[in-house]
Amino acid sequence: MAKRTTDTPSLADAAWLRQPETGAVLAVLEAAGHGARVVGGAVRNALLGVPVKDIDIATTAEPSETMRLMEKAGLKAVPTGILHGTVTVIVRHIPFEVTTLRRDVETFGRHARVLFTDDWAEDAKRRDFTINALYADARGVVHDPVGTGCADLASRRVRFIGKAEDRIREDYLRILRFFRFTAEYAEGRADPDGLRACQSLKEGLRRLSGERIHQEMLRLLVAPAAIPVLEVMHETGILEETLLAGTEPSLAARMAAIEEKMDLDADAMRRLAALAITSPGGALRLRERLRLSNAEYDRLASMAVLAGQTGYGRPEVAARAQLYRHGREVFLDAALYDWARSGEAPDENARVEHARLPQRWSPPVLPVRGADVIALGVPAGPKVGQVMSAFEDWWIAAGFPSDASLIAAELSRLAVVTKS
Ligand code: ATP
Ligand code: MG
Repeated sequence: MAKRTTDTPSLADAAWLRQPETGAVLAVLEAAGHGARVVGGAVRNALLGVPVKDIDIATTAEPSETMRLMEKAGLKAVPTGILHGTVTVIVRHIPFEVTTLRRDVETFGRHARVLFTDDWAEDAKRRDFTINALYADARGVVHDPVGTGCADLASRRVRFIGKAEDRIREDYLRILRFFRFTAEYAEGRADPDGLRACQSLKEGLRRLSGERIHQEMLRLLVAPAAIPVLEVMHETGILEETLLAGTEPSLAARMAAIEEKMDLDADAMRRLAALAITSPGGALRLRERLRLSNAEYDRLASMAVLAGQTGYGRPEVAARAQLYRHGREVFLDAALYDWARSGEAPDENARVEHARLPQRWSPPVLPVRGADVIALGVPAGPKVGQVMSAFEDWWIAAGFPSDASLIAAELSRLAVVTKS
């Protein structure tokens, strides 16, 4: 599909460009005399032959004009970010972000005041990296106003447009985007110039909101070259400034190797835990810094709390007990976290077997219910709960027996003890 010549690459065959929905949006704008080109990630990824997620379109039409033209053509248009020039056009459930060409007039470290323009080169200059400033027109011709985007993409270089320091001062999020894109597209080799600039301006990271750090860091953690990038961020003190926590990239590396050995997809929370968490308090601090969701925080906290308690190295009944109590996901997270921190090799057989427990054994369901306890004469109320929980402890410790008479005998014994 994508050709990778550096001179005049063409995306004429790209499925997302040929699909009628994309063509419709571009055609409506062009028919009214405006320029309209797909820009950014879609062009970059198509040239690399990797999947395209969403399609951003840049146009010379002003937002109100885009709204008017789309509505006239019977296409749904939503003014999602009209002040910044963005209209979302939805064609048969496919959303397109259509943004007017812009140039920054003032920047405030994260937000910018923009002016609309009809100059493609101006629009390109305010983007972050050369590989992110490529445009494709409706015929699939790729335009590279900065001039080095195609060549940088071919040699997999993530470079700032313009002077790295200036671009970072305009928007400190670009520090994290630099590392995220380096991990995704540059095989982890950080451009020396960009790296120097990021290092000297790293204190600006403090100004970023947790949400933005969250967004970039979680993507970075699962990128193909996450590990070498985390290492360089660590060595330059940027990682600590980002997470406001001590970090240990070699443990994240071990977690990545373990995931591979276990045939698991890269997982941001497990990698983050290995990288930056040594205690439940550490999980709390990261929740603050990264504005983690409750579900994300719970995973980190469980790993920290259960470390060393997954039953590894003990008779299997101990591991089964933890799997029963905490469920498959929590057990697996904790087993892998423990393993990564143990220093044991990613192909250590006993560790593999331990972490595979959820694949070969499913926890049984507790064989008694509150009604069974009441039937034994325990009055409805807190005592029923006491008997149930004492029974459950016994049942787990006994290795989850299913023998009905054994179960009945123990339950009666506990009922008698508790009643008196
Ligand atoms: P992906 O969506 O795969 O992460 P993308 O290139 O589409 O990659 P987005 O974050 O969706 O990345 O941004 C779309 C485009 O907007 C980028 O390609 C870039 O040109 C521009 N852009 C986004 N964020 C910034 C920023 N902080 N500074 C400058 N330009 C930016
Ligand atoms: Mg995108």
